[in-house]
Amino acid sequence: MAPNMPSNPKGLSGDAAVVPASKVQKTEGYSIMAEASPEHYHGDNKLTVLVDMDNTLCDYEEAFARTLKATHPDVEVVPASKRLNWDIAKDYPASAAEKVKSICGVPGFFEGMRANEGAVEAVKAMADAGHNVLIVTAPDPNFYAQCSQEKYNWVEKHLGAEWKSKVVLTRDKTTVRGDFLVDDKPTCDAGAMKPEWELVVFDQTYNKAKQGRRLSQWSAWREVLGVKPELDCTLCRNPRQNMENLYPNGINFSCVFPSFNQESIVRKTLAGLVNQKIKSNFKFEVVIVDNNSTDDIDAIYKKYRTKLDLTLVQRRKLENTFSVPSARNMGIQQAKYDYIIGMDSDVILNENFLENMYQFLSSKPSNVPYMVTAERIFVCTEGHTDDKLLEDYGETERYPRILSKANYFKPRDNRFSHGQVLENVKKGWQPWAYFYGMHTAFPKKIWQKIGGYNEVYDGWWGYDDIHFAWEMTVKGGCLPTVLGGTEVFHQEPYGSQWVPLGGVVDKLGSSNPRLNKKDNPNWQRICDTIDGYAEWKTDYYQKLAGDIVTL
Ligand SMILES: [Mg+2]
Repeated sequence: MAPNMPSNPKGLSGDAAVVPASKVQKTEGYSIMAEASPEHYHGDNKLTVLVDMDNTLCDYEEAFARTLKATHPDVEVVPASKRLNWDIAKDYPASAAEKVKSICGVPGFFEGMRANEGAVEAVKAMADAGHNVLIVTAPDPNFYAQCSQEKYNWVEKHLGAEWKSKVVLTRDKTTVRGDFLVDDKPTCDAGAMKPEWELVVFDQTYNKAKQGRRLSQWSAWREVLGVKPELDCTLCRNPRQNMENLYPNGINFSCVFPSFNQESIVRKTLAGLVNQKIKSNFKFEVVIVDNNSTDDIDAIYKKYRTKLDLTLVQRRKLENTFSVPSARNMGIQQAKYDYIIGMDSDVILNENFLENMYQFLSSKPSNVPYMVTAERIFVCTEGHTDDKLLEDYGETERYPRILSKANYFKPRDNRFSHGQVLENVKKGWQPWAYFYGMHTAFPKKIWQKIGGYNEVYDGWWGYDDIHFAWEMTVKGGCLPTVLGGTEVFHQEPYGSQWVPLGGVVDKLGSSNPRLNKKDNPNWQRICDTIDGYAEWKTDYYQKLAGDIVTL
């Protein structure tokens, strides 16, 4: 059957020419493309955050206007929106200089400031999450006694008595060590030291021109400082501590996938497994869980059981054959080896996949759980037989590389062309969002520890895999990793809409049901489960598909 072209194939897909599909790593050996940095995960990444007071924690602007009006009504207040300089005196006429200067000496000026919106909640949340927060402030030397006293009073009143010990008074903030300094002052005057911290500019009209990291509202502190919300969760504090050997019987693999009515595709998936190039001393098996296929899965089993250590689990009559999480659990229950290669039925593994996984895991301590994924290469295997692939793995070179609807017609796995997958996996920013069911490899013991895939996702499309990867990370302590050398071929469903790689496609439009989330309860489930996922994924979809997302 010829591929179905889109009905109106004009209009260039912008990135088709820019980001070519990556190639399956031909040479033997793996490369670690991204490995979670432990300091970004599981509570090992406690930050020291230095926080300024005036116009950062406290609303200096409002207090200044109020006090000026009360003490010098003859001087016209410069509204916050018209401020051009951090040094407020520079925004007033020279004739008013003395009056402006005197404001800091008015009793109650500092103590009476309001807290900026969300500031108190944010610094308390930082401390609750285990970060070290210091309030670093530079009292006016002309009124140091009153000013210092009032700043302490402010801290006690708004944050609590225990925060008084976190106040650092200094005119030179470069002398204080930390990871970040949140401050409205856009310039760093020459100090005694080279600052160790990175400046995070707290938004004010007069510092808009300053480039770099910026906090516009306190509620965004996690994202701006690169801190993951899940680090606040007590479940995920150092889950790797005292973890036992994950491979007591050595590193061997159970490749597990569910299947439903994809006979020709499954054949090639299995042929790819037969063709694994294995040099090291490990074993592997294959477990298929069949979700009530009506095609001849038995014939496939009979053919391949002589070539593979193959188990076929046939489920009893299902109400809904879209029961992927429960099928995965059933397959893993049957698995006899300690490391699970979670797959889909349409995935042909790179011929070095298992050897590379073995080499990678062997190079790591056996008590640290790694959860691995890699890139998908989209191909169409229609018209190609599994016998050809059994004869020669080079057959995979003859499969056309395609632009797939399942990949939003992007020329490269969308996670790699749009997802900043490597950076986000390293730093722990929604890393689980990249771990799709068709290639997620993990230790069986951690699957057990978290209670497996959540079967509440049965019956609907998607997000069971993301939920699983999230639990594996935050409860199971897995380190998400992207491993070059474990790429897979994703076979396009026969008869579906695709375009040859390098071809042109229309704008995706709203035709892709994957983008219509409102009727999918699994979308709601995942959004209710993972803090920040809904916003993150919505932004991701918008980058993928423009403005056509219906959520
Ligand atoms: Mg300030």
